[in-house]
Amino acid sequence: MVGVLALQGNFAEHLEALKSAAKKLEKIKLEIKLVRTKQELKELDALVIPGGESTTIYRLIKENELEQEIKKIKNFLVTCAGLIVLAKKVEGLERWQKTLKLLDIEVKRNAYGTQLDSFYAKIEGEVLNNKEVAFIRAPKIIKIGPEVKVLARIKNTSEIAIVEQKTKNGIIIGATCHPELDSDELAFYFLKKISYL
Ligand code: GLN
Repeated sequence: MVGVLALQGNFAEHLEALKSAAKKLEKIKLEIKLVRTKQELKELDALVIPGGESTTIYRLIKENELEQEIKKIKNFLVTCAGLIVLAKKVEGLERWQKTLKLLDIEVKRNAYGTQLDSFYAKIEGEVLNNKEVAFIRAPKIIKIGPEVKVLARIKNTSEIAIVEQKTKNGIIIGATCHPELDSDELAFYFLKKISYL
């Protein structure tokens, strides 16, 4: 069972992209649903955390006491604010703000400045090669750990757009951008990976 954390942010677009991707993997029966409670999290093999506002998403995780259950889940697909929520280290958070620290990266929040708050850029790599994707008040990945592999960068730059980390019993895929707004390709990559693990 794949859950999309529906506390805040663009969970609806993720749900759509995942459902569209799941149709293409017709041999595997995948159930995908929005989740909000501890009980719902217990049933999951994978969790998607959408973009939105990372401080709000983390606050709602805390208020609803979801942290422990989330940490038990094997696989994650996280975009933008979701990526910040999972990151080990974040530049630009207040001292009292924390993250779940599951993904071994360091990120800088709102790193593309006010004028470039949102833009489309072509990315290149193993996924979404040569595709235009949306960056919306995007964070920048400034450091990656030894277990983290870069799946895509902004074209003709060294800027990391999508990463993958193998964990003890699963994977985490994280994007600074929002591929789910325009395509189901990253959702497809993720579902395929976790189905064959
Ligand atoms: N800037 C937002 C944050 O820091 C992330 C933006 C997004 O998810 N599109 O949480």
